[in-house]
Amino acid sequence: MRLHFLGTGTSFGVPVIGCRCVVCKSEDPRNQRSRHCLALESAGRVLLVDTPPELRLQLVRAGIPSIDAAFLSHLHADHVHGIDDLRVFSIRREAPVPMYVAAEHVRELETRFTYIFDESLEPNPGTSAPEIDLNTFTAGEQLSIAGFRLQVLAFPHGKVNSYGFRIGGLGVVVDGKAILGESRAALEGVETLVINALWWGDPHPTHFNVEEAVAVAGELGARRTYLTHLTHRLDYSELLTKLPQGVRPAYDGLVVELGDG
Ligand SMILES: [Zn+2]
Ligand SMILES: [Zn+2]
Ligand SMILES: [Zn+2]
Repeated sequence: MRLHFLGTGTSFGVPVIGCRCVVCKSEDPRNQRSRHCLALESAGRVLLVDTPPELRLQLVRAGIPSIDAAFLSHLHADHVHGIDDLRVFSIRREAPVPMYVAAEHVRELETRFTYIFDESLEPNPGTSAPEIDLNTFTAGEQLSIAGFRLQVLAFPHGKVNSYGFRIGGLGVVVDGKAILGESRAALEGVETLVINALWWGDPHPTHFNVEEAVAVAGELGARRTYLTHLTHRLDYSELLTKLPQGVRPAYDGLVVELGDG
């Protein structure tokens, strides 16, 4: 299985519009972070995790010509508002794109994107909306999506849950502030952990900071950990030198080869 980090930035992205800080002005491409997106690829099939605003650019850049399904971690705008870029897939395949969303989020998704999900609304002549086949999940559920077997995990993220998963030796914690209960048990001993981290210091109410993410990765016994959802307070090279062994920052375009499963 191959893991593509398509977007590794926090909700503002990096560079932040108009920001003159060292990281935003940096020429290191690893400091240029679009909004959160992952793709899992195995046996020629692709599962997309989130549909952020830069989705088209991310897929074009990564050379991923098609996807088989999309999993939405939660509905914050930085994770969902590129949903229209799925149009190309439903048009090409002449079939809806399977999408998986938490049962507790589905009503809000349908309300926010009525032009997609309200079947009584027809697109204007000459225009189109993505065709999506919505499926729901709940925490702890085992899902089989496009050949990938996932155990869905919930993580508290302010007023909502964010959903990630364990799939074979890979654990993904998209947004979130804590790993508790069943989610913690499911991630014990994970081979590769992907976890959000905003910056050093200043605990954030709904996200891990770097210290917290490193600590929880250690508690879980993760063999290697990739930090994502990074802000412009983190310079890639500097962060790399400060992180303990086995923990690295992710960057847009990073591809990691994983074992089977
Ligand atoms: Zn986010
Ligand atoms: Zn900046
Ligand atoms: Zn979020």
